[in-house]
Formats: sequence, structure tokens, C-alpha cells
Amino acid sequence: MNQKENISPSQTTTCCYCGVGCGIIVSKDAHQNITLVGDKNHPVNKGMLCSKGMNLHYTVNDKSDRLLYPQMRYNKNMPLQRVSWDVALERTAAVFKTLIKKYGPDSVAFYASGQCLTEEYYVVNKLIKGFIGSNNIDTNSRLCMSSAVMGYKMSLGEDSVPISYDDLELADCLFVSGANPAWCHPILWRRVEAAA
Ligand code: SF4
Repeated sequence: MNQKENISPSQTTTCCYCGVGCGIIVSKDAHQNITLVGDKNHPVNKGMLCSKGMNLHYTVNDKSDRLLYPQMRYNKNMPLQRVSWDVALERTAAVFKTLIKKYGPDSVAFYASGQCLTEEYYVVNKLIKGFIGSNNIDTNSRLCMSSAVMGYKMSLGEDSVPISYDDLELADCLFVSGANPAWCHPILWRRVEAAA
């Protein structure tokens, strides 16, 4: 296979670092390293990226600290060992089963990532609510938004979904309270600055 055949076509996707959701175009170079640029056609960032998004591919290309396979320790005093998926899943299921049998379904819980897709949330909810019979499921999406919800309730009277980004350029006045959008949502703040 020559080097040209190794090059994957570019893929459009979304920067995973923050909730702004900037569009990126990801490609692979001749050495199979991932490269990326901001997507000029994306309605959120129109090709712009902040320093985090701009350097996303360095994180992806560095596999030195990535968990690539299941690890398990047989008790607290033993070191982590590499195991197969079957061994890891069978052990997890056995521990869950033992606890549920002894203390009931509410003795176990799932705490899921905020980065899961809707279908993954559906499956994990179905597993704990429909199969195990407990409501003990939460994700860091809720924890992440809880302070924002309190802020919305205290300042606006109720929780609310974010506005359309198009309103940033249409607004005459923006009220920012208890937040630093230039730091936390840099690409949106650049749009605010440009509109101002
Ligand atoms: S603002 Fe920065 S970190 Fe957030 S999605 Fe855009 S490029 Fe990524």
C-alpha cells in the first residue's frame, strides 16, 4: 500500500471539549497522524477554533495515557491487571448480582458520562430501570448543569434552554452574570466581540 492509499478522506465532526460545539474537519496525514481545522461552513464557529479545539489533535495523537483495554484488581491490595472484556464484564456482573441479592436493587447505581450519546443513555437507563429495577442512574450532565440551573432560576425565575446562537449578533444588549464567557466559551465570545 502506498502512502496515498493510507490517507483517509476528511470527516466533519464536532469539537468535544466544551458545549459550544464548534465544527471541525478531521483528516489523517501520510503518517496516519490526525490533523484538524475549523469547519468554515459550520454555523457555530464559521472556521474559528479556540486554543483547546486547535490543539485537539495533539491530545488524540498522544496515546501514552489512554486506557486501551479493561483493567481489574482482584482486591484493594492487588495491582491493576490487564484482563479480557469477558473477564471484566463477568466480574462486574457477579459483584452487582451479589449486592442486589443481599441488599436489593437500590444498593447499586450507575454514574454515566456526560459524553454519552442518546442511544447509550437509553440502553443504560433500560438496564438499571427496566432490568435491575432501580432508579439509581445519573450522569455528570446533570451535575454539570446544576449550578447553571440554579443561576437561571435565581436570575430568570425558571430553568431554560440556551438561546439560538444567531441571537448573539441580533441582540442589542447582553447581560452576563457570574460567568466568564471569554474564558469558558471563547468562540461564542469572539462572535459577541465581532458583533459589538
Ligand atoms: S469553543 Fe473551543 S473548546 Fe469549545 S467547542 Fe469551540 S473550539 Fe472546542
